[in-house]
Amino acid sequence: MLLLLIIFWILSAIGCGFAAHEKGRSGYGFFWISLCFSPIVGFIAVIIASRDVQKIEEQRVKTGLMKKCPFCAEAIKKEAITCRYCGKELPAVEAITKPQEKIHWAVAFFLAIVILIIGIIIFTSNK
Ligand SMILES: [Zn+2]
Repeated sequence: MLLLLIIFWILSAIGCGFAAHEKGRSGYGFFWISLCFSPIVGFIAVIIASRDVQKIEEQRVKTGLMKKCPFCAEAIKKEAITCRYCGKELPAVEAITKPQEKIHWAVAFFLAIVILIIGIIIFTSNK
């Protein structure tokens, strides 16, 4: 029973980290807040925290979902042929597209926790 509570607590903290990350906030920070204080406190903090639009756009530029306009430096969709901010026509998309799909930190972290939990379950059930 205690083990189930611990698993639920950790999974909720991870969910809280994901939710914070989606709002452009520190996933790690909110994960640790949730883990130390309570997932309830963590989720309330995520709800209260405002969306960091600039950070979200930076993340999308990094992952290749968006690009920066060379004229006004605003983040725009990578398929865009004209900038929605300054209205200028953009140069043709570079032929070389960098390999996408590098493993997202949150996914890797989530998998590590899941493996840890499965390990705990197997370890405790084999007594
Ligand atoms: Zn522009």
